[in-house]
Amino acid sequence: MKTTSNQQTALALNDRITLVSGTAMPPLGLGVFQVEEGDDLIAAVKSAIRLGYRSIDTAAVYGNESGVGQGIREALLETGLRREELFITSKVWNADLGYAETLAAYELSLQKLGLDYLDLYLIHWPVEDKYQSAWKALEELYLAGRVKAIGVSNFQTRHLEKLMQNAEITPMVNQVEFHPFLTQKELLDFTRKHNIVMEAWSPLMQGGLFEEPLLLELASKYGRTVAQIILRWDLQHGVVTIPKSIREARIAENSQVFDFELSPADMERIDGLNRNLRVGPDPDDFDF
Ligand code: NAD
Repeated sequence: MKTTSNQQTALALNDRITLVSGTAMPPLGLGVFQVEEGDDLIAAVKSAIRLGYRSIDTAAVYGNESGVGQGIREALLETGLRREELFITSKVWNADLGYAETLAAYELSLQKLGLDYLDLYLIHWPVEDKYQSAWKALEELYLAGRVKAIGVSNFQTRHLEKLMQNAEITPMVNQVEFHPFLTQKELLDFTRKHNIVMEAWSPLMQGGLFEEPLLLELASKYGRTVAQIILRWDLQHGVVTIPKSIREARIAENSQVFDFELSPADMERIDGLNRNLRVGPDPDDFDF
């Protein structure tokens, strides 16, 4: 296993990106947004772990932490892996932002997952006037050794700056929408400068990029699928990526991105697709 900083490219699925906490974060994980509790979810988590994934990204609001926990337990039994070899992320939902509320939400997520710690706990959205007190709770959990790493999600530069003004600990990760139509250049530069690892949600733009001519051209040039071209582009930017699928063949396909390299010119061409286009809500204008 090799560890890299957040500005280098992971070379294998079992490489790790080192967060400032020293925590080793897998460069690629399985996302489970919009996957309901049940057999498909459990099977997807098990397939992913069997295929070499070690990171699973869930959230309280996805309503599927119990199934994720079940999948994890079954996979550990089946593979003989230890819990410590996995990297499990969850997120505190907006309604639970606040010091005491966030501490309680963490306990509830652990209980549903059946785990006694998380590897990464994130503030899901930057709800004004609420994320600072929630951050105090995350800092406390981290300092008490209850969680391996803490971070945020959907934070723009201004949210990060405001949080960091009074924070004891700088967020270690910022998970944001990131794909070739939303390349987030300024935010990526800012996070790199502050040693915050950027993590891409909806890296495949929820399926919205598969007909893009340049990506089809590159898929053909490199003998890969469009999904693999996009995920490789994430990794070469030092961005952690968490594509979602419940189909075993796609879960496998999405992890086969460590044995080819996009040229600098092709990286730039993909960067050039940016349209500042979102599939999800805008962190500067949301009302939930
Ligand atoms: P995604 O970009 O990962 O796209 C998923 C879609 O692409 C699915 O419909 C899937 O069937 C399809 N797909 C996956 N692999 C494919 C392949 N190889 N070929 C063809 N189609 C393929 O979308 P997402 O689920 O929104 O994002 C990924 C993860 O990011 C989520 O599951 C969740 O864990 C996280 N997320 C976080 C936030 C946040 O606010 N923090 C928001 C959205 C998503």
